[in-house]
Amino acid sequence: MRFKEKVVIVTGSSRGIGRGIALEFGREGASVVVNYVSNVDAANEVVKAIEELGSQAIAIQADVSNFTEAEQLIKQAIDEFGDLHVLVNNTGTTRDGLIMTMKEANWDFVLNTNLKSTFNCSRAAVRHMLRKRYGRIINITSVSGQIGNAGQTNYSASKAGQIGFTKALAREVAPRKITVNAVAPGFIATDLTETLPENLRAGLKDLIPLGRIGTPEEVAKAVLYLASDDAAYVTGHVLTIDGGMAMF
Ligand code: NAP
Repeated sequence: MRFKEKVVIVTGSSRGIGRGIALEFGREGASVVVNYVSNVDAANEVVKAIEELGSQAIAIQADVSNFTEAEQLIKQAIDEFGDLHVLVNNTGTTRDGLIMTMKEANWDFVLNTNLKSTFNCSRAAVRHMLRKRYGRIINITSVSGQIGNAGQTNYSASKAGQIGFTKALAREVAPRKITVNAVAPGFIATDLTETLPENLRAGLKDLIPLGRIGTPEEVAKAVLYLASDDAAYVTGHVLTIDGGMAMF
């Protein structure tokens, strides 16, 4: 129960990796804000699962790519639970395509959903954390932001942007005992990777030394470590959870 008395917001936690992170925090006693954009039933199911684990949770709808909605999400969470200790910027999406055919709208949508959301939520959360002289911000980036992926200039740029953001903010807020880190998953079984053709998925497994796609729970364990007291001296770090695929 490392997170008893802690309030945690996980953006985009109605499904996939975010859901896995929210459940792990719930399992360890945290009060969890489950954010979603459109899938209210899935968000309510996560809330129910956390309550069954004996912790508190609420679902809050907000499009975190929108500055005002992100601010309202953070405010509503603090109003509800009285504090905010951990922000996990997990929301993400893809609109893949080769550069010559990539539509401007698909560039903007991915950059706004993945990177601007990270700025929007962090800005609102940091205001509270600076006053409290405590905070943990964890950004879910991707190995695509570290090694690049053909057909994903928008996605890779947004994920690399999150890494730069993590390091800059870590330096900025360190004097107030706020840490800012990133977790970079490789291929994880979620709706985002479900749509990949079977031959591509089989090929991917050959690229992963551990020989399999990862699970949301395996990413969640890394996030909980970075949010815990054990990681008090870790900031500006990118923790790769990819079965050995990238290896820097
Ligand atoms: P996912 O299964 O597609 O789930 C996306 C989640 O984000 C959903 O809960 C969705 O809510 C929410 N969301 C989308 N747009 C939003 C917005 N504008 N405002 C608020 N919430 C929004 O995705 P995932 O695979 O779990 O990915 C989660 C994160 O991990 C992303 O940042 C992704 O880039 C990163 N990642 C994933 C993989 C992978 O292999 N899956 C690998 C590396 C990195 P609704 O349910 O309401 O739509």
